[in-house]
Amino acid sequence: MIFLKILLLSYQSVVTFNNLPMKVAVFSTKSYDRRFLELENTISKANHELVFFDARLQPQTASLAAGFPAVCVFVNDDLGTETLEILASQGTKLIALRCTGFNNVNLKTAAELGIKVVRVTEYSPYAVAEHAVGLILMLNRKLYRAYNRVRDDNFALDGLLGFDLHNRTVGVVGTGKIGQIFAQIMAGFGCHLLGYDVYPNPNFEKLENAEYVSLEELWKRSDVISLHCPLFPETHHLINQETIAKMKSGVMLINTSRGKLVDTKAVIEGIKSEKIGYVGIDVYEEEDKLFFEDLSTTIIQDDTFQLLQSFPNVVITAHQGFFTENALDDIARTTIANFSDFEQGNPLTNQVTAS
Ligand code: NAD
Repeated sequence: MIFLKILLLSYQSVVTFNNLPMKVAVFSTKSYDRRFLELENTISKANHELVFFDARLQPQTASLAAGFPAVCVFVNDDLGTETLEILASQGTKLIALRCTGFNNVNLKTAAELGIKVVRVTEYSPYAVAEHAVGLILMLNRKLYRAYNRVRDDNFALDGLLGFDLHNRTVGVVGTGKIGQIFAQIMAGFGCHLLGYDVYPNPNFEKLENAEYVSLEELWKRSDVISLHCPLFPETHHLINQETIAKMKSGVMLINTSRGKLVDTKAVIEGIKSEKIGYVGIDVYEEEDKLFFEDLSTTIIQDDTFQLLQSFPNVVITAHQGFFTENALDDIARTTIANFSDFEQGNPLTNQVTAS
């Protein structure tokens, strides 16, 4: 029996055997994932056997992937130890993230279990950078309030007073692909740019009015702070009670990166004390229980989220920074190529490993 199981698992890992298409279990599928992945699978002639599941991958749903050498996942799928152990015992050898961030995968356990992890290292960085700018413009000109007001035939301007971005100081935490594009756009508004990164980007300093500073200085001098660094243990709750205390009064906080970079309860206290003047977020600490689903007829149990929503100077979008035609095209192309590289035994150029 054990011999048969081993034979079956090795058969599943040598997926080109007999020219059978490689089976891929695609989790957290939405209609747009299916559309873009199926199109690319056809155009590229990769012809993988894509099986789409609506369910989020977590220990309770991992059995759906039984017999699949590859699984494809998104930002809120749970690839902790328990899920990985189930996947490994069922023969999965490849996890393909259709996103850049990989904070939801226990890379060490994956390596120990012989599972390779690949991601989409790069896709339109303009999508997220432009979304961050969109949040800033929503907030500084109160466009979300103006839109609702005019629809209600209320043409008064009281309460809509904004401020010019020109000459304001914008702090950019993480000046990689997205942070750099964001900085470029803000430079176009005539802003002063303060950057912080553990690996400075020479292109950032080439921008007009841009300089690298310490985090302390960035907190102290910025009118707008936008987060573009990954979520690592050292960046968890980078925005907290202590760092907020160092910021300018009335600061605008923008987070399009990862929810757990921000201690939401500390931000709520900052809003209540009026230390924080504006908050624009596309990501939220506990978003895995909320985002990507229509919960409009259910009672939301997350009191922190509900309280945050209730403030007039907070704009929340539900992790849609990546959601442009261009980005989804790029994501599908890289994801299908990642499957093909694995299937054909090519080097995995987009592999992520535990450092
Ligand atoms: P990137 O790797 O090109 O850039 C990240 C930058 O952060 C790098 O320059 C890196 O050196 C820097 N960094 C690392 N640790 C840091 C630290 N402790 N402090 C400051 N900077 C640090 O990644 P990217 O493509 O620009 O993406 C940035 C982040 O955006 C991703 O990690 C992801 O979490 C988020 N993202 C969000 C969406 C969305 O839809 N909202 C989509 C894609 C990516």
